[in-house]
Amino acid sequence: MNQTKYIFVTGGVTSSLGKGIIAASLAKLLQARGYRTTIQKFDPYINVDPGTLNPYEHGECFVTDDGAETDLDLGHYERFLNVPTSQANNVTTGRVYLSVIEKERRGEFLGKTVQVVPHITNEIKERMQLLGNSGDYDIVITEIGGTVGDIESLPYIESVRQLVWELGENNGIVVHLTLVPYLAAAGELKTKPTQHSVKTLMESGIKADILVCRTEHELSDELRQKLALFCNVKREAVIQSIDASTIYEVPNLMLQEGLDVVALKKLNLPKKNSPDLKNWNVFLHRLKNPKHTVNIGLIGKYVELQDSYKSILEALIHAGATNETKVNVVSVHSEYIDADNVADKLKGLDGILVAPGFGERGIEGKIEAVRYARENKLPFFGICLGMQMAVIEYARNVLNYKDANSTEMNQGTSHAVIDLMEAQKSITDKGGTMRLGAWKCDLKPGTLAASIYGKSSIMERHRHRYEYNSDFASALENAGLISSGINPETNLVEIIEIKDHPFFIGVQYHPEYKSTVANPHPLFVSFVQATVKAKRNN
Ligand code: GLN
Repeated sequence: MNQTKYIFVTGGVTSSLGKGIIAASLAKLLQARGYRTTIQKFDPYINVDPGTLNPYEHGECFVTDDGAETDLDLGHYERFLNVPTSQANNVTTGRVYLSVIEKERRGEFLGKTVQVVPHITNEIKERMQLLGNSGDYDIVITEIGGTVGDIESLPYIESVRQLVWELGENNGIVVHLTLVPYLAAAGELKTKPTQHSVKTLMESGIKADILVCRTEHELSDELRQKLALFCNVKREAVIQSIDASTIYEVPNLMLQEGLDVVALKKLNLPKKNSPDLKNWNVFLHRLKNPKHTVNIGLIGKYVELQDSYKSILEALIHAGATNETKVNVVSVHSEYIDADNVADKLKGLDGILVAPGFGERGIEGKIEAVRYARENKLPFFGICLGMQMAVIEYARNVLNYKDANSTEMNQGTSHAVIDLMEAQKSITDKGGTMRLGAWKCDLKPGTLAASIYGKSSIMERHRHRYEYNSDFASALENAGLISSGINPETNLVEIIEIKDHPFFIGVQYHPEYKSTVANPHPLFVSFVQATVKAKRNN
């Protein structure tokens, strides 16, 4: 078997430089040259997974087919590569320590003092090579979360040092992403923070092979030469990453800068064919040359932080490009919507998407928004909690079950149209205990859902605890709320829709996790199409 090659991506100077996008772009180029490539992320926090993190703190939690609750960067990896990731692609310090401590309790280190070096670093190195050892990949890119110099990333940095040494010449390289800030007062780009960051890496025994420099302005030749000399890298290994209008532009920018070619050279791999980005560029062209514009209201409670709904926003971008439509997402805070102001709050929107979420805050506003969309024939798309709100709204306003609710919000309701499954009732632990990952769903022939998917059976990813209570399904169905998707194993209703409406659909799962550039999600595509039509008819 050929040796799997490893590329480690570290970050310096500040966080939020877009390591995930650089890693995904490099992976995209290598994939487009014909290399089987995957990306994994190692995060320095102590949560075992990001599932228990508030979206305000860390952005959205991304869910994989195998039900792992992971960092949102895995979403970028899937959207760029169109290859599913799994639990193995995301490791946190918490998971590493948990596993080492469990081994210690089982007596696997009996007699030994368990230490960061070698026990934690060995565990990290083992996990870093898990996907590589599967034989499925030629190149594994590992993104190290955090910024070099942070206390918590030290064990990862030490593991990278050891692994690069163990793998031997040309088998493991380090790409270091830094910031080259522009000082407006001096009118100059500054290299010193990058020099310091490379020095910090050196103190841990790691020499950067490639520097990727985030910048707002073009790096001159002179400046690149200076960075090369002082950071001890080849001139061709100084890569500029200039601000782009969209993240989907970055693979092309990296191609122009030769990031993939330099990486392949360092790894002693042939360039093979030049990258096939034909479909990617068709998408990009559509994205940048829209023929229509629509305003879509995103009704949620985490609207202040863009990253909270990352996959939804990206799925709307994919669907917008497919429809040659610019989608303006208008964030509407559900907490401030009520029956009196709903028309005003939703004014000018061509459709609404009611977002996923947890807890009581803002739900009455969501229900009002659904009602408005249903009655005024405004395209409506409800995801997870958004679907649950549509069921409650229908029960309250069409069936007249005035106190209909979810038991997540009101345990005492006499119409618990959304309720916990038996299996969930005894669960008290919070981490990794929801209904997670891919589940099968059969589509009822003749429904909107079946026509959108063009299939009779689908697999979609879930992340929720509460369910549509099947005790109420026939009453609601008789009143016009169609159950158009059913889980064949559990009989749970996964999709609801209504007739005589331009677009009204709610899904218990999260379609946004499966939307990629190569495969925009059909529900998002149809929803955006419906908003374009709605706008035309207005
Ligand atoms: N809070 C709801 C539940 O747990 C919805 C979850 C979600 O929207 N992801 O069922």
